[in-house]
Amino acid sequence: MLNHKRSRRDFFRQYIRAGTLLLGGGLFISSCTKGKQEQEEQATAYSGDPCSDLSNVSAEEIQKRENLGYVADTPIADNQCNNCNLYLPPGDKACGGCMLFKGPVHAEGYCTYWAPKV
Ligand code: SF4
Repeated sequence: MLNHKRSRRDFFRQYIRAGTLLLGGGLFISSCTKGKQEQEEQATAYSGDPCSDLSNVSAEEIQKRENLGYVADTPIADNQCNNCNLYLPPGDKACGGCMLFKGPVHAEGYCTYWAPKV
């Protein structure tokens, strides 16, 4: 009888150990896959145009530009980043920027916060 209880205890220990290993392995694989997906998304987002390169921009800042409806090509010909009051000219950089979020901005871009220069 004692031997029977002991084997049941051993069975549960092994069961928990195996479950822990499976859970840990699953989480590890999931985190690796997620990191790889993010790298692939950033790699595909960068088309060789430095103004589209968001590889050094945090996810939070990318979310900000998406929330503002930023697009690289303005849908309104007269309203674009390079004639917006919030546009930061490129200076010696390849691309300009915006006062509302970090990262490169296309001169021909646009977002819903476009404001005429004063
Ligand atoms: S506020 Fe919008 S339109 Fe103006 S520079 Fe920034 S992203 Fe471009």
